[in-house]
Amino acid sequence: MRLGVHMPQKGGFEANVKRVAAIGCRSIQIFSGNPTGWRMGKMTQEEISARADLLEQYSIYPLVVHSAYLINLATNKEEFLLKSKKLLDETMERAALYRSPFVILHTGNHGGEGVEKGTAQIIASIEEGLAKWPPSVKLVLENTAGSGTAIGSKIEEQAAILQVFPAERVGFCFDTAHGFAAGYDLSSPAAVEETVQLIDKIIGRDRLCVFHVNDTKVKLGSRVDRHAHIGEGNIGLEGFRALLNQGWPEDMPVILETPENGTAWDETNMEKLASLID
Ligand SMILES: [Zn+2]
Ligand SMILES: [Zn+2]
Repeated sequence: MRLGVHMPQKGGFEANVKRVAAIGCRSIQIFSGNPTGWRMGKMTQEEISARADLLEQYSIYPLVVHSAYLINLATNKEEFLLKSKKLLDETMERAALYRSPFVILHTGNHGGEGVEKGTAQIIASIEEGLAKWPPSVKLVLENTAGSGTAIGSKIEEQAAILQVFPAERVGFCFDTAHGFAAGYDLSSPAAVEETVQLIDKIIGRDRLCVFHVNDTKVKLGSRVDRHAHIGEGNIGLEGFRALLNQGWPEDMPVILETPENGTAWDETNMEKLASLID
């Protein structure tokens, strides 16, 4: 596994890369543009290449690109869907320039139309996208906490989308805080075993390409999305120890999206994670 952090935008790219390399990160996640806006922000190809070179120089890979939160492929609003598809297209293209293999996407919110209808629209949108997206970049669907009308908190809901597409083009990201909030217990070795077996059986472990490792103080199954520092929540150190030692591939990125990314907390969380790996 390659441990990394979600890098904040403040501070500047170069300084942040040096900082995360110094605390032992071997992979990293970034937002491709404004995480809460429709605009990517202009960057030249040269600027993006220089960033990709810098990551290579510090042996930080893979770079995981997180798409903007606004993107909702399950929306029931026509204009919102068009904007979502356009921004996702741009994000996939930018990820290719960054030489990133993964773009993370929150599956979507159906807004009251129902999981079935929302899922059908997500599938149709991805089908359309795959015809034009750069083949070097995989779309990676992230499980959700299940608040509101979010699709994809249940492993079965993710599987319904994933199974339509080839594993080389569409993958799965498991966020531990979201999983716990959605009712997948991770707080003990036995609970982790059971959750991992469900992922294995329903999705297939070959589809899993990224972990988001976040503790959470919310109750199991509470459907509330709130991240906590590693070992300071209900998953706890023993839960993470069990999860991390399941024989995952060497090159799998394991990303911290803990509170206050970009501060001394990153080092603390990185150290805790590293100490849990056998
Ligand atoms: Zn996440
Ligand atoms: Zn979250």
